[in-house]
Amino acid sequence: MALDLDNHPHRRWNSLTGEWVQVSPHRAKRPWQGKQEETPGEEKPKYDPECYLCPGNNRAGDAKNPEFESTFVFTNDFSALKPDTPSETIKDGDLLYAKGEKGICRVICFSPRHDLTLPEMELSQIREVVDLWTKEYTELGDRDYINYVQIFENKGEIMGCSNPHPHGQIWAQQTIPDEPSKELKRQINYYEEHDKTLLGDYLDLELERDERVVVENEHFVVVVPYWAFWPFETLLISRRPFSRFTDMSDAEKDGLADIVKQITVKYDNIFEVSFPYSAGFHPAPTDGKEHPEWHFHMHFYPPLLRSATVKKFRVGYEMLGTPQRDITPEASADLIKSLSDTHYKKQ
Ligand SMILES: [Zn+2]
Ligand SMILES: [Zn+2]
Repeated sequence: MALDLDNHPHRRWNSLTGEWVQVSPHRAKRPWQGKQEETPGEEKPKYDPECYLCPGNNRAGDAKNPEFESTFVFTNDFSALKPDTPSETIKDGDLLYAKGEKGICRVICFSPRHDLTLPEMELSQIREVVDLWTKEYTELGDRDYINYVQIFENKGEIMGCSNPHPHGQIWAQQTIPDEPSKELKRQINYYEEHDKTLLGDYLDLELERDERVVVENEHFVVVVPYWAFWPFETLLISRRPFSRFTDMSDAEKDGLADIVKQITVKYDNIFEVSFPYSAGFHPAPTDGKEHPEWHFHMHFYPPLLRSATVKKFRVGYEMLGTPQRDITPEASADLIKSLSDTHYKKQ
């Protein structure tokens, strides 16, 4: 009997991290008896006097937001990383080992509007967000002690997001964190062997097979990766191999705004709710090295499973063994592709 990836349990290799994911497609029809989340409430106000991210409002302590009209960035009032931390190492024998970690955490409001998420914003407004990501990546990355700038968005109450005002975060720090660090090793190895970027070759394969591509434009392509773990996980890849926000042309920055809108509109259309996710960019480290191996990309990790109220938890075997999924990445891609390109609120 030949192995059939649509029906037989199998493991798929994540060529970007070197890790495995267990796929069990035969279980996709199993009846669900898990937790039901409340469907997120509908319309939010344009301005909320209680929101600490709305223009003109008070934040923690004495801080007060300006009357901003497009994007707004500030240093997180409750930063997880601080620039003045001692870089000391504490080593107690071979087993107890700790290091001070310097860093800066920032918050980015995507717009003054309390009610507008990325998929509902105009392209020109999303482009302003792209420009701010680029500026922050450059400014923070230029500091000699910052070796990685992690830009991300944690969207939706279900993700533990504490404020509904559409915003993203930046954690810039001394050490290259674990996820980009795994990808760095894999990308260097591949580049040394093939003299091309790993994700460039992977993208060529995806475009040729055309099974997992969900949206694309002149400059970027979004796929459900072959090794996806989350049910509706996607990977956004630049067509041209480049490493950093600062390598993008103006046309590519417009392209990035457009592709972010396209994929987030698709997401909202899956269950006709504001779709929760953790998403973030993986640009090259800012460690002063050239990084020709690094291919600019972005990950979307949404937690929803089969309805707006059923969330996937990483528990049991997945905490103790290997990440696992039921529905195949190809089936997820088919579903995302089949949805309208127009946001459900505008249909
Ligand atoms: Zn607000
Ligand atoms: Zn990555």
